[in-house]
Amino acid sequence: MLEKVVIANRGEIALRILRGCRELGIRTVAVFSEQDREQKHVLLADEAVCIGPALATLSYLNIPAVISAAEVTDAVAIHPGYGFLSENADFAERVEQSGFIFIGPKSETIRLMGSKIGARKVMHDAGIACVPGSDGPLPEDAEEMARVARHIGYPVIIKASGGGGGRGMRVVHSEASLRNAVQLTRAEAQAAFGDDTVYLEKFLEHPRHVEFQMLADEHGNVIHLGERDCSMQRRHQKVLEEAPAPGIDPELKRRIGVRCVEACAAIGYRSAGTMEFLYQDGQFYFIEMNTRIQVEHPVTEMVTGVDIVKEQLHIANGDPLSYRQEDIQWRGHAIECRINAEDSETFMPCPGLIEHIHHPGGPGIRIDTHIYDGYRVPPHYDSMIGKLIAHSETRELAIARMRTALAEIVIDGIKTNIPLHQKILHDAAFAAGGTDIHYLQNKLVPR
Ligand code: ADP
Repeated sequence: MLEKVVIANRGEIALRILRGCRELGIRTVAVFSEQDREQKHVLLADEAVCIGPALATLSYLNIPAVISAAEVTDAVAIHPGYGFLSENADFAERVEQSGFIFIGPKSETIRLMGSKIGARKVMHDAGIACVPGSDGPLPEDAEEMARVARHIGYPVIIKASGGGGGRGMRVVHSEASLRNAVQLTRAEAQAAFGDDTVYLEKFLEHPRHVEFQMLADEHGNVIHLGERDCSMQRRHQKVLEEAPAPGIDPELKRRIGVRCVEACAAIGYRSAGTMEFLYQDGQFYFIEMNTRIQVEHPVTEMVTGVDIVKEQLHIANGDPLSYRQEDIQWRGHAIECRINAEDSETFMPCPGLIEHIHHPGGPGIRIDTHIYDGYRVPPHYDSMIGKLIAHSETRELAIARMRTALAEIVIDGIKTNIPLHQKILHDAAFAAGGTDIHYLQNKLVPR
């Protein structure tokens, strides 16, 4: 097995990776910013290296600093987690060139899928339906651009090819606002992602976000672990996720799963990855692929019993997948609530001192968090401070279990979005299942 792994991340995912490594007897190196000395995984890791000041560009995004940490500690591999450098093809390449194992796909796969336009083409060629849209980048010429949009039909959504994290997207309802919207999106994309390439898709009016979890090894074996429904979103960012996706024909899901496996095999995919779709009126439309572990991976772990992080570590070690497709069985239903340090009505971040946290418990409850009594949530990073996961035999029972856990959990000292989750978990339409991506913002969030 890999001897020593650098965990190039922070927060709950760093702790999650550390736990996976521990179980497999792998030694761990935490890298941390000056702000993050008191992170739980830093305190627990076998070794820890400070890689720079609080500002992420100088620490968690500092490629030479992360690679030197691997060098000085004699590590063999680097796990990037999610966010930060996880989908940076240049980083993956530098890791490989420096003689380390990148725990993820090959750098060329990251580069290919990092372009949403490229990913759409690959998936289309592999026989997977994409959201109707422009073939490749949107033309610069205003007239041609307008022709493409007219052909697709309004409303359309302008998207940055290199975008991520719910940013770099703009909905356009009529030709009058098209040009301006494209210009704004280009400028934003250039500033945020260093690439102003944009394309256009039909804006679906009531889709659900449904994604498939993939696993692939170096020997050409590929399986899927079924789907998750991540339709509860605010500003294109996921708030609550569940597995399986309620109310979708199991035969259709099985067929899409098989297609995803074929597509991953066709591109020589390796490690964990997620194929994201919009689902509307009984049809799946591919939107993008995430070439890393995702925040919401625990709901899949709960229903399949597969430890996705440990599989990533095995794959990085060159081992064949521990499961064949026919070994994967789905049991019950799981829901995850992302707990953010923010005001549940204004959504303003609320960093600060955790005076006290009381963890909920009981059968089927899992909490993935790095916070503890006396920990100070810094203002410099993402506001997610943990994830609460409930698993039970049926969706109805998982909802009941989550309601109980949300009533039990106590986080004193800062504001969190727990009241928003309570509202969702007591909402009749959510309980019925199948709410679309606009539901949370339209119905449950105060304006
Ligand atoms: P990111 O890479 O920023 O996560 P995605 O392409 O995955 O961007 O889209 C994020 C979310 O934006 C989707 O889950 C969905 O809610 C919304 N979205 C994206 N494309 C469309 C579309 N064509 N129609 C309607 N909503 C969309």
